[in-house]
Amino acid sequence: MRLDKYLCESSDLTRSQARSVLLSGEVTVNGEIIKRGTHVVQDGDEVQWEGETLSLVGLRYLMLNKPAGHECGNRNSQYPPVIDLLDVDKRDRLQTVGRLDVDTTGLILITDDGHWMHRIISPRKRCDKVYLVTLAEPLPENAEVRFQAGIKLEDEEQRGLPAALLRVDERSVRLTIQEGKDFHVKRMFESLGSQVLFLHCERIGPLSLDSDLQAGESRYLTPAEVADLA
Ligand code: URA
Repeated sequence: MRLDKYLCESSDLTRSQARSVLLSGEVTVNGEIIKRGTHVVQDGDEVQWEGETLSLVGLRYLMLNKPAGHECGNRNSQYPPVIDLLDVDKRDRLQTVGRLDVDTTGLILITDDGHWMHRIISPRKRCDKVYLVTLAEPLPENAEVRFQAGIKLEDEEQRGLPAALLRVDERSVRLTIQEGKDFHVKRMFESLGSQVLFLHCERIGPLSLDSDLQAGESRYLTPAEVADLA
């Protein structure tokens, strides 16, 4: 198959976008930059765009209800990777979109489309993430105002973006943030002197976790959901 056709069929690029990424030298075949759309891709060739391997298997987009005790990413950890919960082929191509801590549960997106993933996690995108948070102690009275003003995490120079806090009951809150540094939510509450006992991701952007997905279960996203997120 011609390289320009391969690019279109293995990504969401149009024909003219494929031509332009080729001309910019963003595409390699077996490690060599190829700019000609007429180059013929052979079986077994590795085609990469900006370092991400493309595949004609079709790009996959899933949501998983992550149980506690599984790790996002690191295969050398003592915990099993979340990807192993999926009953799909070629699992090593899949990555989580962002990370949840090993003890965090709930919605995690999984894909082999690196460009889609980067569009969602890019800080510029300011994608909402909604967490249900259970705390060890009740929060101070002014917590809503402090979250709205942006929390300054320990070791950070600046305040973070405004975050919306809604009290659910005495010890649980629903928090919407648009950032995603390591241990972000836990560090936000720590800075108010509160400890997070449980953390559950309910929503990313417009997409909520399906209520009928049990912990450990996953499903493919619909094309409309994929398009809405990016
Ligand atoms: N913030 C955290 O502290 N942990 C998570 O798993 C996700 C967001």
